[in-house]
Amino acid sequence: MRSDTVTLPTQEMLQAILHTPLRDDVYGEDPTVNKLQELAAEKIGKEKALLVTSGTQGNLVSILSHTKKGDEVILEASAHTYRTEAGGLCIVGGLIPNPIQGTMGVLDPRDVERAIRTRNVHYPEPTLIAIENTHNAAGGTCWNQSQIKAIKKVAERHGMRIYMDGARVFNAAIALNVDAKELTTHMDSVTFCLSKGLSAPIGSLVIGDEAFIERTRKWRKVLGGGLRQAGVIAAPGIIALEKMVDRLKEDHANARTLAEGLARIRGVSINLETVQTNIVRYDIAGLEMNSSQFVSKLRKHGIKTAGSGISIRMVTHRMISREDIDYTLNTIEAVTKAR
Ligand SMILES: *Cc1c(COP(=O)(O)O)cnc(C)c1O
Repeated sequence: MRSDTVTLPTQEMLQAILHTPLRDDVYGEDPTVNKLQELAAEKIGKEKALLVTSGTQGNLVSILSHTKKGDEVILEASAHTYRTEAGGLCIVGGLIPNPIQGTMGVLDPRDVERAIRTRNVHYPEPTLIAIENTHNAAGGTCWNQSQIKAIKKVAERHGMRIYMDGARVFNAAIALNVDAKELTTHMDSVTFCLSKGLSAPIGSLVIGDEAFIERTRKWRKVLGGGLRQAGVIAAPGIIALEKMVDRLKEDHANARTLAEGLARIRGVSINLETVQTNIVRYDIAGLEMNSSQFVSKLRKHGIKTAGSGISIRMVTHRMISREDIDYTLNTIEAVTKAR
């Protein structure tokens, strides 16, 4: 339950890898990659898409393609791009992050407005606002359409571009019961991951207009991400997009059951409002143990989970069943009682 990245490909995906026709994608000739990119562009509702090897690479090539060295990027203070991508936007992009605290991962447009400084010789130029949907660190929380629209207005007013790290954008769409396009329509570009809840082994897609995708292709090459017979990645990716989106609602239901069960366990504290998709974050300040003790106790019972400080994260996905949720709750109850 550490992450939905641990999902393994289905038999159908493995079969597709064996049987897909392959060509060289750096020449743009791999038919399976081209098909996946067209499908992704269609699902997100923009002109073009580009296959990249990871979400981190997708975020980096996107942000680089929206900015120039020395620009300022406004993002949420616990954004994946800012906190857990090894500083790529500074190291490679020469960019200055301007982190703003959100509420459950969502930025207040007034806070963003206040953070945008007038153009002045002293200041880096603010050119990009980056949002995250769903927001990982906040607990898999969603930006809804009206929140997105409000932030877009701020970007427009200041001539800034706006980008969505949509690693789990299909989780957001399922949770809000809208088409993913409704969440991405106000974005200049979007990245989503195939290798999380959608269960493909590798890959993410960057989606935007044609000129933007041409720039990302160049940056992908700079980063060593231009791949040759990448159809082996694209073939399972097509199945992920076509067949694995609708089932995400099972993961959300399991996360809900887990969260409600956790709320009843003494010493565990959880804000159920944050449990909107497949991520369950809670804290164990009320237990007489820290997260590494808690994590190692669960591991002895076959449950792998992630924790730091007093905070624990559990993620539901295709390989976690309803029975696994019951087993997890029973185990946590036993472990927290037997102190
Ligand atoms: C997982 C994730 C990414 C990308 O992660 P990779 O491991 O590089 O694929 C980006 N943003 C968010 C919000 C994520 O959860």
